[in-house]
Parts: sequence; structure tokens; C-alpha cells
Amino acid sequence: MLSKRMQELKPSPTLALAAKAKQLKADGHDVISLTVGEPDWTTYAKAKEAGKTAIDENKTTYTPAAGIPPLKAAIAELIGQQIQKTIDPSQVTVGAGAKFIIYAALTAVLDPGDEVIVPSPYWVSYPTMVELAGGEPKIVQCEESTDFKMTADQLEQAMTSKTKAVLLNSPSNPTGAEYSTEELVALAAVLKQHPNVVIISDDIYNQLSFNSESLSPHILNVEPSLFDRCLSINGMSKAYAMTGWRIGWAVGPEVLIKAMASFQSQTTGASSSVSQWASVTAIKDCHKEVEQALVALKERKTFFLDKISKVPGLSIFNPQGAFYLWVNINQWIGQSYKGEALKDSKQVAEALLNDEKLAVVPGQEFGLDGYLRLSFAASTKDLEEATRRFLNFQSQLS
Ligand code: PMP
Ligand code: GLU
Repeated sequence: MLSKRMQELKPSPTLALAAKAKQLKADGHDVISLTVGEPDWTTYAKAKEAGKTAIDENKTTYTPAAGIPPLKAAIAELIGQQIQKTIDPSQVTVGAGAKFIIYAALTAVLDPGDEVIVPSPYWVSYPTMVELAGGEPKIVQCEESTDFKMTADQLEQAMTSKTKAVLLNSPSNPTGAEYSTEELVALAAVLKQHPNVVIISDDIYNQLSFNSESLSPHILNVEPSLFDRCLSINGMSKAYAMTGWRIGWAVGPEVLIKAMASFQSQTTGASSSVSQWASVTAIKDCHKEVEQALVALKERKTFFLDKISKVPGLSIFNPQGAFYLWVNINQWIGQSYKGEALKDSKQVAEALLNDEKLAVVPGQEFGLDGYLRLSFAASTKDLEEATRRFLNFQSQLS
């Protein structure tokens, strides 16, 4: 009954692991979940009020497929400031989360067999979405020595006559690595030599940057001329703690935005009207709240990094943004646990969940074995307890 595409489709591993942890909790187990990339703080009060007001004012009907004009205007202003360019609302499309927007972007640019350059470690859904859109992911393995970032040389070498797009994600999920201005200059120089390649810049964590500007550098800051073939993707989920409201968007050249909007109009239709109205207020009136969330996040990063670094055999990458620790567990691989040699990150993650009731995501899901991803968007109490469980697990290795 199932199509070939669906027979091969695996569900998102981050969502699957988060669901498993939730189920164990519901069954009465004392589980700590550092799996899903989701703020543990709540949607800001002003945004919630705006959502309630929208319901009371019966703003509950279909909206234009690409979003309500006030939201497109607010996004145009926000992203215009970030990339230092005047954005017209016709260069914005709003959809049901950045995830679907990325899929719409890939669908808008890919023909069968087209290649998309995906630096690894990558966010779990990129390769699958490329395939669903008919393309072929071309994985570029990035090294710890370059902080898991793609170099200009690697980008140049990955380019072929079939390359149609390149995916950038800074700060990165899963590593938290952020491309510096200099690194973006070098990547932009390569991209300028390949005028038919579209840049899909997934900026979903760019306001959760630990640098002094609290904003990640963007490829369009260093090379504005790329705008005509760049889609800047972002959304409400992370900085505004609105994962469940399902609002994401793309900013880019009208020709691509129009195609994406048509695709949206034939598939999801518009995103939730109530969520869109709440997002207008969040973007316009919640700057302070975003700043405060970032301060709290930085504190938690420092707290968790300090604790978890003391677990023997772990080496931790210091993230420059987002809310993940990318943990090298290669020293544990090959060690004996309960009489069996640990062979990969999946086995370690399974043992942590089964025996320590600690849920984390294995590096394999992000394209690189020998690592775990831990979300630190969690309470310090949970982060402390997670460290204790890591230590308990480690004490049984030989
Ligand atoms: N890109 C990255 C890198 C992410 O981590 C996420 C989080 N799910 C998304 C896109 C999609 O976010 P959402 O669909 O919630 O807007
Ligand atoms: N981006 C989040 C994560 O990586 C949410 C999960 C998902 O959408 O797959 O955990």
C-alpha cells in the first residue's frame, strides 16, 4: 500500500526520542530528557495575550497563504535590520514552522537529481527533506579541527554541475558552532563563482548567539549581492519560545517566495491565524524578553559545561549559540559496559535511557558517530541530575 518513498521514510529521531522519554515519564519513570530542541521557558506573556485577543476578536479565519500583512511587515523589518537591507513584504512568506518552510524552499528549487550541499553534522531533517523534494544530499563532513564548520575549500570541492543549493545553519544544530564574519566572507567568495546555486540559510538560532552582538553574522551581511539567490529562514520557535504555535518564514527574492507561497497554498494552506497575530506582537514587543532568555541560556551553558566537563572521558565543544552541547564520547567507545563493548553513540544513548533514565540524542542522527547531543534548555536541577547520571554510567565502564 505504501509508496516507495514512504517505505523508506523514518520519523524525525529527535521527535521520536522526545516522545519515548515522555512516555517513560508518563509510565512513572524518573526520566530526564535532554532530547528535543525546545525552550523550557514559556511563550512571553504579551504574545500569549495577543493570541487570546485574536480569538476574542474572531481573527480566526483563513488568512492569505503567505501570511497576514502585519506579520509580513514585522518580519520584513526584523530581518531587514539583521541583514541591513530594506525588505518588502512581497519578499516574505510565512508558513507552518521553519521545518515546513525549509521543505517548501527545497521543493521550490530542486529538480530530480539536483544536489544540495549539506555540511555535517547537520540537523536531522535536512537530508530526508532534500530526498523528499527529489534532490540528493551531498554531505560534507566537517572536522572538529574547524569547529565542525564547512571551510571554503570543502565547499568548492563539493560543487558539481548538479549542485543546486547549499544549506547553511549558524548557529548550528547540533553543535552550536557559529560561522564568523571571516568564514562567511570565504564561503561567499566560493558562492560568487557558482551563480546558479541557491543559498538556504537556516537562521533559526541567530538571536540565541553568545557573541557580543547577541546576533549571528549572516552571509548577506558580508555579501549583500547574494540576496537574489538566498533564502533566509527563521521562525518563532526558539528565541520566542513558541514551538507549538508553528510559525516560520523565509525572506528572499520574490520569484522564490512566490513559488513557495503557491506550494504552501496547495498543501498546508495558511498557518494558524491566531499564531500569526501572536507572532506580530512577539516580534514587535518582546525584545526585552528575548534578551532575558539569552542571559538565562548563557548562564545555563556555563553551568552545564562546567559540570559535564568533569565526567571522565567526555570532551565538550563550547557552543557559540543555540542550546545544545555536542559531546565527544569517543573515549567511551570500545570500553566495556555490562560485559559488552560499547560500539557506537546509539548504543550509549540507549544504555543511558534504559539504565540511567537519561534521554539524549546520538550523534549518528546528525551524521557523525562518537558524539551525543544534549539540550541545555532545561532547569539547572535537571542539568545537575543529568551530570550525576552520566557519572554513574561512566563509573561502570571498564
Ligand atoms: N532548523 C533547525 C536547525 C532546527 O533545529 C529546527 C527546530 N525544530 C527547525 C529548523 C524547525 O523549527 P520549527 O519548525 O519549529 O520552526
Ligand atoms: N529542532 C528540534 C530538535 O532538533 C526539534 C525537533 C524536530 O523538529 O525534529 O530537537
